[in-house]
Amino acid sequence: MERRKLLKAAALTSAVTGLAACKKQNKQSQCAGDYQDKKKTKIEWKMVTTWPKNFPGLGTGAAFLADQITRMSDGRLTIKVYGASELVPAFEVFDAVSAGTAQIGHGAAYYWKGKVPEAQYFGAVPFGMNASEMNAWLYHGGGLPLWEETYQPFGLKPLPAGQTGVQMGGWFNKEIKSMDDIKGLVMRIPGLAGDVLSRAGGTPQILPGAELFTALQTGAIDATEWVGPYNDLAFGLYQAAQFYYYPGWHEPTACLEAIINQTAYDALPTDLQQIVETAAMAANQHMFSEYIANNQKALETLQKDHQVKIKPFPKEVLAQLKLHAQSVMNDLGKSSHLAGRIHQSYYHFAEKTQRWLAISEMAYLQAR
Ligand code: CA
Repeated sequence: MERRKLLKAAALTSAVTGLAACKKQNKQSQCAGDYQDKKKTKIEWKMVTTWPKNFPGLGTGAAFLADQITRMSDGRLTIKVYGASELVPAFEVFDAVSAGTAQIGHGAAYYWKGKVPEAQYFGAVPFGMNASEMNAWLYHGGGLPLWEETYQPFGLKPLPAGQTGVQMGGWFNKEIKSMDDIKGLVMRIPGLAGDVLSRAGGTPQILPGAELFTALQTGAIDATEWVGPYNDLAFGLYQAAQFYYYPGWHEPTACLEAIINQTAYDALPTDLQQIVETAAMAANQHMFSEYIANNQKALETLQKDHQVKIKPFPKEVLAQLKLHAQSVMNDLGKSSHLAGRIHQSYYHFAEKTQRWLAISEMAYLQAR
C-alpha cells in the first residue's frame, strides 16, 4: 500500500512538474493539453472526382473513401466530395489537386496519359496484371514508390483506392470470329487498349460513359467496352448491342487512384496522414469486393431477364491482340527513362508472380 501511494505521488509530481515546465517555457507542443487541442482542430478537404457523383462502384467508391476518412478521424478531417464537373471537369482533376484547388482527387491514372504517359502502368495494362497482382506489386513489389516518383514533380501523392477486377470485353453489334472482324471495327475503347485496337486495324473512339448507349444504338460505333455487368446493366447497353464478349483483355483491372496534394498532406498531423493512407487501402479492397458481388448479380439479370448472348473471344483473336499489346507496351517502356524503369519493375514482378499463381490460384480454380 505504502509503495503504491509513493508511486502514485511520484507520478503526480512528475506530471505537475512537466506541465509547469511546459507553461514556464511556453512550449505548447509539450503541454499536457496539447493532445486535446490537436483533437479539436478541424480540417476540411475538397475531393474532386472523375465520376458522376455516386456513380455505382466508382463514384460510390470515392464517397466510401471520403466517409472512412471522416469517421476514422472522428470528424477532425472531413472530406466534401464533388462529382465530375461540380467543381472541375472530370479530366481536370489531376491539375486541380496539383494546384491545390482541391486537396484530394479520385480517378484513374490512365486519364493523365497526355501529361504523364508513365501513369498508364498504374491504371490498366492490356494483358497485364489483375487486381490481386497489381496490389501485390504496388504494396510489396516496388510499384507504389515508382508511382510516387512519377507524380512527385506535380506535387501529388498517389494511393491505390479501388479496383474493378477483370472487366468485360465489351458490347458488339456483330460476331467476332476472326481478326478480319476486328479490322475496320469502330469501337469505344480508351487508352493503351485503343492503341492496340488501332494496330489491329480497328478505329478506337473515346467517349464519356453517358454517350455510349446512343452512339451504339445509332451505329456511330460498332462496339463499346465500359466496365462489367454491374455498370453495363445500369447503362442499358444490352438494348443497343446483341453480343457481350469476354474477357476484358484490355482492362484486367482498372486500378483507381486517390491523388493527394503533397503540401496539404504534409500539413496533416501524423495520425491523420496514417488515417488517409489506411482509408485508401480499405477503399481499394472495398471496391474490388463490391464489383465481384454486384457483377455476379447483374450477370444473372442480363442472362435471365434480357437474354444477352455472352461469348468468349476466339483464342486466335486474343493471341493476336496480345502480340499487338506487347508492341504497344514495349514502345511505352522506351518512351522515357522513368517509363523504362517502371516497365522493367512491372513485367519482372508480373512474370515471377505468374509462376507462383500458376501452381496456386490458377491450379485451384481449374481444380474446383
Ligand atoms: Ca473499361
